[in-house]
Amino acid sequence: MPLHLEPLNVSDQLQICESVLIVSCPVCPPVSLATDRAAPFKNLLKNGIKTAAYEDFICETREALEQSGVRTGVFTSYMPCAAMCIWTQGQRNRLLKRAKGFEAALVMGCESARCTVQEVLKDTGCKTVLGMGLIGITNATLKFRFPSTITLEDPVRVTANEKVANLPSAGA
Ligand code: SF4
Repeated sequence: MPLHLEPLNVSDQLQICESVLIVSCPVCPPVSLATDRAAPFKNLLKNGIKTAAYEDFICETREALEQSGVRTGVFTSYMPCAAMCIWTQGQRNRLLKRAKGFEAALVMGCESARCTVQEVLKDTGCKTVLGMGLIGITNATLKFRFPSTITLEDPVRVTANEKVANLPSAGA
């Protein structure tokens, strides 16, 4: 049930930053870019588990920033949990270390991904900027095409209302 996210124009928010770390959630954004660009979700032989359409988007974002003289880096995390909304403490610690020296973290993910990054970086001078906006929830038919391509057929967006509520914690 991936969220459908669309890139936001954040140039105003990054205008005075000389360095930006792109913090990328590898779950919903790749599905969003693959369906938006009518591109394969995976080509396992060519790109492994990465989604080419999403990798292209990250490259385009970096190039646009670097053309304006901004130093960029990319941080993403697959193991032990890819979804940024439920990262482990170890993954949060790794981001804190990686973000050192960057003025801003550009989050490619949803509002919950932004919450994770903002919480991790709250005691640093690195500001958190959300780079994607929620459009809805994707519904599609996952299809394997021989020899190594996975596509998302007949995608539709299911609209969703954004609402935040606290839930009881298992660790409380
Ligand atoms: S953080 Fe957001 S974009 Fe990433 S997996 Fe969770 S819901 Fe999807």
